[in-house]
Amino acid sequence: MDLALSEEQEAVRKLAEDFVAREVTPHVVAWDRAENVDRSIVGKLGELGFLGLTVPEEYGGSGGDHLSYCLVTEELGRGDSSVRGIVSVSLGLVAKTIASWGSEEQKRQWLPRLTSGEAIGCFGLTEPGTGSDAGNLVTRAVRDGGDYVINGTKMFITNGTWADVVLLFARTNDSPGHRGVSAFLVSADTPGLSRRTVHGKLGLRGQATAELVLQDVRIPASCLLGPEGKGFSIAMSALAKGRMSVAAGCVGIAQAAQDAAVRYAGEREQFGKAIARHQLVQELLSDIAVDVDAARLLTWRVADLIDRGQEFATAASKAKLYASEAAVRCANNALQVFGGYGYIDEYPVGKLLRDARVMTLYEGTSQIQKLIIGRALTGVSAF
Ligand SMILES: Cc1cc2nc3c(=O)[nH]c(=O)nc-3n(C[C@H](O)[C@H](O)[C@H](O)COP(=O)(O)OP(=O)(O)OC[C@H]3O[C@@H](n4cnc5c(N)ncnc54)[C@H](O)[C@@H]3O)c2cc1C
Repeated sequence: MDLALSEEQEAVRKLAEDFVAREVTPHVVAWDRAENVDRSIVGKLGELGFLGLTVPEEYGGSGGDHLSYCLVTEELGRGDSSVRGIVSVSLGLVAKTIASWGSEEQKRQWLPRLTSGEAIGCFGLTEPGTGSDAGNLVTRAVRDGGDYVINGTKMFITNGTWADVVLLFARTNDSPGHRGVSAFLVSADTPGLSRRTVHGKLGLRGQATAELVLQDVRIPASCLLGPEGKGFSIAMSALAKGRMSVAAGCVGIAQAAQDAAVRYAGEREQFGKAIARHQLVQELLSDIAVDVDAARLLTWRVADLIDRGQEFATAASKAKLYASEAAVRCANNALQVFGGYGYIDEYPVGKLLRDARVMTLYEGTSQIQKLIIGRALTGVSAF
């Protein structure tokens, strides 16, 4: 087994590291306080090919392997999870799903725009009444001649107010549970679609999270993505790969927590010596370091399985579960190293903890990941 990065992988990682140092880090505190990442970041991400990683070049993507995608996602997560989320959703959940399930016309319509950053995508699955139980969603798409007419509400949609296209999941027939769900590509400027920013988030404050309301939204039947009734499978296949991206972003948070805590522990003195020389502070640092390595290795394994064409969904759930919980632990331990200064937003660790906290909730909570892993082990579904 070779865990060393190739020259190309190291180059793309360094490109992302430099990008974060130049375009993200100087603005992180201001964006967090303003609850708004500067939207020009999207075009810059597109220019470097970060919104087209693993998407075929014939559709404007930059190709590449999934480990490279993880490396970029980790670096972005190390800089700002609000920026990382733009890529994970617009590329990871939307563009890659269009690349896998879309018709030739849908690929030509959306992929060059999404991969260049000219357009942004969002993923509309969660509803006010259905989060973990997404298969029971109630948004309806009713066939009317050559169109579908959609009514319903989507909640907590990342990129929601910025998006040009919504990958939307709606019920097209009365079959129970997930069997009646279909996927659609809805232009965000379609009449009847309105968006409201969700304010007051604990973390990811710079990210455009929205509620989407659809009132008699009429779209041509050609906007159906994949076969009718296959929407839930499409959503689950998108989320399985998406979990690798969230896990990589969590590794970035954990690495940022380690970097900040080690630096601070070397500078801050108490009892006449650097706090790094106190053994209980070293314990905090070593707990962080083990979590960083374990989370990264679990995440890289998912990328390796995908690139080999092997089954990866359970490994992705393990990586997402471990890395998200580890990111929370690492940020919390780092805050402890910072003492009272960690509690103030001039220092980075408080934001890392606030941003980390949602990682155990979205793209399947930690409890849902455990049920997926348990089902794979026993063959028995607890859902
Ligand atoms: C900032 C943010 C961004 C998001 N972005 C998106 C997005 O882009 N697109 C999108 O579609 N969604 C998005 N979500 C929604 C997210 O995926 C859901 O919040 C998540 O799936 C949990 O659903 P819920 O909030 O309704 O919680 P619930 O499903 O109500 O869960 C509440 C609690 O019950 C537990 N629980 C539920 N069912 C079970 C069970 N069977 N066994 C054991 N425990 C269980 C959960 O683990 C949790 O602890 C986002 C959420 C947030 C906060």
